[in-house]
Amino acid sequence: MTELISQRPTWAEINLDNLAANFHAAKKFIGDTKYMAVVKADAYGHGAVECAKRLEAEGVDWFGVALPEEGVELRKAGIRKLILCLGGFWEGQETLALNYGLTPVVYQIEKAAILNAAAAERGSDISIHIKIDTGMGRIGVRFDQVAEFADALLPMEHLRVEGMMTHFASADDLGQNDFTDLQIERFNRAVATFREKGFRPAYLDMANSPGAVAHPSSRSNLVRLGGVLYGLGGDVLPPNIDKPELKPVMSLHTKIAHLKTVPTGETVGYGRTFTTVHESVIATIPIGYQDGYSRTLSNKSRAIVNGVAVPVIGRISMDWTTLDVTGVAGIKIGHVVTLIGTDGDASIKAEDLARATDTISYEITCGVNRRVPRMYRSDIQ
Ligand SMILES: *Cc1c(COP(=O)(O)O)cnc(C)c1O
Repeated sequence: MTELISQRPTWAEINLDNLAANFHAAKKFIGDTKYMAVVKADAYGHGAVECAKRLEAEGVDWFGVALPEEGVELRKAGIRKLILCLGGFWEGQETLALNYGLTPVVYQIEKAAILNAAAAERGSDISIHIKIDTGMGRIGVRFDQVAEFADALLPMEHLRVEGMMTHFASADDLGQNDFTDLQIERFNRAVATFREKGFRPAYLDMANSPGAVAHPSSRSNLVRLGGVLYGLGGDVLPPNIDKPELKPVMSLHTKIAHLKTVPTGETVGYGRTFTTVHESVIATIPIGYQDGYSRTLSNKSRAIVNGVAVPVIGRISMDWTTLDVTGVAGIKIGHVVTLIGTDGDASIKAEDLARATDTISYEITCGVNRRVPRMYRSDIQ
């Protein structure tokens, strides 16, 4: 296990070999197409720069970020591959796109005009990807307004429509396949309309992780993968289908800070929500909801100590959590505690914490606070 020096011993380990293995497993499963690694939101909490460096070395074609400033962070770290800004850009950020070689998604004609003018001013062109809203209902040119949008773009000589994309609302739910198929159909019609107007988009992409894995007809010539790269397949891919074998990338650890034996009938923590029913050994660990270990896991989740899964007892507080470690042999202050990950035969996944708190695994890994240092591990490089 990784040691920290002169710091609170609470850390997230990011296994870059597993990240690489997931990319190759996904590629083998999905097949011959281009691959965009979505590294928005600090790579779903895994650390965008380190993840992007490794994925670039493994042969990813594109990176996807939510915000232009996330793209700038990657460029400053030396990432050279294409970067798509999935959420477009805010006024004033057109210069970031131009200066750092970022490709903005465009879905409003006003933004297209801003970008066209900024490119014209410096005598250059800029590549853009057009987002079509085929049913997600969030951002994008509505599928029934594509022709008007294409007409309005035509005079903007400094924009190159290099790609067209859409995003699925329910690709993870096979019960809604009809809707996913409808989105695919609407997208294909939008592309045909653009072509009729004379545009020649090279990249056509629809698929997120569940699209790429479960809907072969959505793979087109570029897929945008987030979750599967981070090994978070358990709750964002449809159950009971063929899928690539994925390995978790993030694990979350701390060490026992305090141990005590308490008699029967004592309460532990805020609100006194837990009462010992026998003489108990209680371990206090230095992690809390500020770190992203949600208070809603109080009295619900488990942690692993010396290969044994033990219950979280009492309320999780801002910086501390308490465990009932009664009966765990040889337990000592300083022993490693695993909150997400594997220790011996016991294992806890981000998906398990998500299920217990009525969310998805993405919110669990995204939620691990910046106060928790990421320790990058690679045994290969
Ligand atoms: C986040 C995102 C993705 C990646 O989705 P996953 O389910 O994590 O694979 C793809 N496309 C867009 C537009 C996104 O915002």
